Parts: sequence; structure tokens; C-alpha cells
Amino acid sequence: MEKTDRSYVRKIRYAVQWAIFFMVAYAGYKFYIFAQALEQGLIPSVSRPPSIEGFMPIGALMALKLWITEGIFDPLHPAALIIFLGALLVSLLLKKSFCGWICPVGTVSDAVWKGGRKIFGKNFAITKYIDYPLRALKYILMAFFLYVIIIKMSPIQIVEFLNTPYWKISDIKLLKFFTEMSLTTKITLITLFGMSLLYKNFWCRYLCPYGGLLGLLSVLSPIKIKRNDAACIQCGLCSKNCPSLLPVDKKDTVRSPECTGCLTCVSHCPAKHVLDTALPARTAITPEIFISGVIALFFGLVLIAKLTGKWHSSITYEELLSLMPIIHTLAHP
Ligand code: SF4
Ligand code: SF4
Repeated sequence: MEKTDRSYVRKIRYAVQWAIFFMVAYAGYKFYIFAQALEQGLIPSVSRPPSIEGFMPIGALMALKLWITEGIFDPLHPAALIIFLGALLVSLLLKKSFCGWICPVGTVSDAVWKGGRKIFGKNFAITKYIDYPLRALKYILMAFFLYVIIIKMSPIQIVEFLNTPYWKISDIKLLKFFTEMSLTTKITLITLFGMSLLYKNFWCRYLCPYGGLLGLLSVLSPIKIKRNDAACIQCGLCSKNCPSLLPVDKKDTVRSPECTGCLTCVSHCPAKHVLDTALPARTAITPEIFISGVIALFFGLVLIAKLTGKWHSSITYEELLSLMPIIHTLAHP
């Protein structure tokens, strides 16, 4: 067997994931300072970081429908739609790699189960009879949002929603959800943290409707993980290390919507030219090209949005200042 060592792929992944995590964390901190100033009735001295709109995917889904059906691009939170489009595009072409490489929740989730493995000496596995129905939960949640927004809401209703004071200030309301946590939120987050310590990617695997949607789209991705059975030495390292618990060593092609394109399996495979990301005709794509593709697609779209004026919100600071005194009275319409 010709040997290979691709452990560097894991190092690149951690570097990409944590670089993005700290970018998002810095944006969150800046947004906190921004909102604090508004709270005190002052015009903020720091600018509002648009990237925080990445945490508003439900509004982004409404904005996507409005853009497709009416050609109207939401000017209030355009970055929410751009980030959503970026995630959809990456998943459609390069597996669910938004989850595996970009999403900061995925990064934290990864770190937590690895922490759990250090504490308990292993991660626990949920029996498949419970695992399957639990995995369906994220698709049920996804179907609910798709039904309500895509089927039930008319473009006029979406325009009405996107023009409410609630939507204008929903980013600050989201911030307050975390800075002024209710007891229920605290208990929920602590429970999720505990479950994520015990089980690999508990939130992503069972509950995230965003990941569910990206996973279904990723089934159409022309690039997939492919294994050359004739050259495989059946060491099982790919399956043992797959964070999505997929039986990689039993498949010629990994088609599962749970595959996040994280390349952990590829990085652990000791045999050369056996496990690769590849196009349908088994044309192998090197990890370097795959990773560059994920980054170029996602951040390329963000760059185009910035250059074409579709990144910064049109809301003025004065408008936000006028809404701050009534923020607690603004409920989801
Ligand atoms: S099959 Fe490979 S790329 Fe897909 S989730 Fe598992 S380890 Fe990651
Ligand atoms: S890591 Fe998986 S694909 Fe690679 S040789 Fe071992 S069993 Fe085969």
C-alpha cells in the first residue's frame, strides 16, 4: 500500500473554523457596543457589523422568497440574505461544508464534543432506534418553516413583515435574547451544552433546521466523498473519525445529507488515492482545491454583495434610536 499523511487537512480546517469564529465573535462584540450606545440614547461611535445578520435565517428565508417572486431585495437586513444564499450555494456545490467549515455554531459544537471525549474518555452513541427519529426532528422543523414561509405567506404578507418595526430592530432583539436571558433560555442552553458534551454534534445532528435544509440541498452536490474499494485496506479509520458517524468504509460514495464535507475521513485515511472528494466520474479533487472552493464561493459572494451595495443595512441610526424605547413592546407580528 502506498501511504499518505493528510493530517494537515485537519489543521487547515481548525485554522479556517476558528478564524471565522473569532471574526464572528468580534462582530458580536462590536454589535454589543453599538447596541449599548443606542440604549443610552447616543449615536454609536462604532459601525454596525452586518455579518451578525447571519443569525437571522428565518427572516432571510422570507427575504429570499420575496427576491425570487417579486425581485425585491430586502434593504433592511441584506446581509442576512447574502449569508443565507452563500450557505445554500456552498451546500449545493460542495456538500454541507457551510456546516463543516464556516458555521461558528458547528465550530463550538465540535470543540464541545471533543471536550466531552477528554472528560469521559469517549463520546456516547444513541441507539439507532432513537437516533433515526431524533434525526428527523431537524427536518420536521425545517418543513414547518418552509411550509409557513414558502407555501403560506404571500409576497404581500412578507413585505408587510419586512416593514414592521420588529424586523427593523430584530437584530438588537436577538442580541437581547442572549444578554437578557430568561430562565427557560438558560436551562435550554445548559441542556444543549450537556448533551453536546456527551453526544457528537447534538444540536447539528438532531435539531438545527438550517443544517437540515443545507443537508437536503447537499445531496445534489456533484462533489462527494468517494472511496476506492479495490485499494482500501479496511482499517476503518475513516468511519471511526467521522463526526457525523457515517459508515464511510462501507460506502463507495458518501451520499448522506449528514456529510458536512469536513474532510476528517480523508485526513485520517492512511492509503494514498483511496479516499477523496471527487466529481461524478471519480475525478479526484484535492483537499486544497475543495477548501479553496468553499472559502472562495462563500466569501466571494460576500465581496460581490459589498461591491454592489447589498451588504449594509439602509436603516439609519436615528431610526434605531427612535425604536429603542419601545423595543420591549415589539413582539413577532
Ligand atoms: S464522511 Fe467524511 S467529510 Fe463527510 S462528515 Fe464524515 S468525515 Fe466529514
Ligand atoms: S481510512 Fe477508510 S477508506 Fe481509507 S483505507 Fe481505511 S477503511 Fe479504507
